[in-house]
Amino acid sequence: MSENPPTKQEKTAEALIAELYALVRELHSKKQAEGIIASFEAVLRSNENEAERVNIAEHWRDFYRLRKYRRLMRRRRPTYQERMTPCSACGYPISHRHHLWDVATHGENMVTIQLCPNCHELQHLMYNALVRDSVYSQKLALHALKSPRVAPETAIKVLEWCRATIRYEADNGWIERFRTTDEWLDQRLGWSDYLKSHQLAASH
Ligand SMILES: [Zn+2]
Ligand SMILES: [Zn+2]
Repeated sequence: MSENPPTKQEKTAEALIAELYALVRELHSKKQAEGIIASFEAVLRSNENEAERVNIAEHWRDFYRLRKYRRLMRRRRPTYQERMTPCSACGYPISHRHHLWDVATHGENMVTIQLCPNCHELQHLMYNALVRDSVYSQKLALHALKSPRVAPETAIKVLEWCRATIRYEADNGWIERFRTTDEWLDQRLGWSDYLKSHQLAASH
C-alpha cells in the first residue's frame, strides 16, 4: 500500500472489510471464520483497484448481512423446561411459546407467553379476527367461545394478551387505532354479550 494518507475510498474499503470480517466471525466457528477471512484477505489485499475492492467487500458484506438477518429470524427450538411450563391461560401441562411481539417483525425475542396448542390457536384466531378482518378466524373464534369446554376465565386471559399485542402495534402506528376499542371487540367477537352470558362484569 502507498505511504500517502488513505483516500476516502480506501477508508470506505477498510470499513467495509472490517464489517465483513466481523460478520464472518459472528456467523462461523472460530476456525471456519479464520479460513474464510484468509481467503478474503488473499483476494482483497492482492487487488490493487480500490473501486474493485469496495465492490467485492460490499457484495460479501451484503451476503453475510442477509445470512445474519435470516439467522435472527429463525426461531430457536423451545427447551423442555419451556414445553413443560403449564399454559398461562388454562393450566394445561404442556405449552408452546407465543410471541407477543411477532417474530416476523422483531425476530426471536423475550416477549413471550406459554400457551397450550388450543389456547395458542384461539389467540391467533382472535388476533386475525380483530386485525386481519378474517371472517374465517372470526367464525372459528366465535365457535370456540360458544363451547362449554372453553372456560370464560381462559378466554378472557387469551383475549387480554391478544389485546396487549394489538395495543402495542397500534401504538407503533402499524395498525389502526380503532382495532383496540371495545366497540370493535363487540362487533367482531360479540365480547360484551359473551361476558354477559357468563355473568361477568364487562371490565375489559
Ligand atoms: Zn391453554
Ligand atoms: Zn403464537
